[in-house]
Amino acid sequence: MNSFAIGVDLGGTNLRIAAVDTTGKVLEKISTDAEVARGRDYVLDEMCNRVRTVAGKFGGDGRLTGIGIGVPGIIDRQTGLVHESPNLPGWRDYPVRDEIERRLRTNVILENDANAAALGEKWLGAGSQVSDMCMLTLGTGVGGGLVLDGKIWHGMTGMAGELGHTTVDPDGIKCGCGNRGCLEQYASATAVKRMALEAISRGEAPELAKAMDRDPELSSKAIYQMAAQRDEPARQIFRAVGQSLGIALANLINVFNLPMYVIGGGVANAWDAFAPAMLNEIQKRSFVYTATAPSRNAMQIEKSNDGASSRQSTIITRASLGSDAGLFGAARLPMITIRVQSPTPQ
Ligand SMILES: [Zn+2]
Repeated sequence: MNSFAIGVDLGGTNLRIAAVDTTGKVLEKISTDAEVARGRDYVLDEMCNRVRTVAGKFGGDGRLTGIGIGVPGIIDRQTGLVHESPNLPGWRDYPVRDEIERRLRTNVILENDANAAALGEKWLGAGSQVSDMCMLTLGTGVGGGLVLDGKIWHGMTGMAGELGHTTVDPDGIKCGCGNRGCLEQYASATAVKRMALEAISRGEAPELAKAMDRDPELSSKAIYQMAAQRDEPARQIFRAVGQSLGIALANLINVFNLPMYVIGGGVANAWDAFAPAMLNEIQKRSFVYTATAPSRNAMQIEKSNDGASSRQSTIITRASLGSDAGLFGAARLPMITIRVQSPTPQ
């Protein structure tokens, strides 16, 4: 049997763990409530117990290469600390990596969850045929990851790839990061809902108002369903999402000239509602894109992951692993990472 690694995806709501071998085959996958509200020590106990159970099943003969953990926050890779994580109160500056290594006695690698998702799509998903790619994850917020030459690009302090906080409107909506007009404020599930509430309060969206009467939660999924039923105000919201994504992507394409840009996360399920506006915006704003756009009908691009036939084209496509991208990426980490360590004295 091949050696394997354990990937952990620690989200705000779910804790998911998978044992994945070096070919990408899933040996076991479990999902449980993360219960982050019960505190750091509880979550770490649960995580370690479950990892131990999974590792114990397959881990004979030293076949476990390590554990990769995707965490929603900013990671200091040298110290193994979680610096900023709004979803994980009480984790700040706690030695998460060292504590898990001590308990499980194996190599542990922490990674930002959006970076892990990008690595997962690179390894087994939409990006498996290219060596460089960029991924945007459209969820509650907008996460970003850059994979260059098969590896996550971390930047100087591990903060690279914060693509959700690139500016798409200089005087736009205030963002939690301190900036105004971040992509996250226009292309996340939170933003879709905000735009729907604004349209309702202006009295411009009677069908959306009725949908909210039926379900006050009014999820971005429900708003997309209205768009799919050709409700014009709902469609307009996704055109705005597409326009903002297009501005951000045009900049990224001009900067990086990568072969592939992948869009994942829950909001990516509304692809057909936002993609035309997104591609239109990219065509208007990026001469690098127009010089490298696939010759086929642009809307068919997402159906093709055939990197070989379009190697010299800029491909903009949907992610293909769904919510498993981060889990696979986390498992991939110990297989490819040489740990950054300060030199030990001889
Ligand atoms: Zn921001």
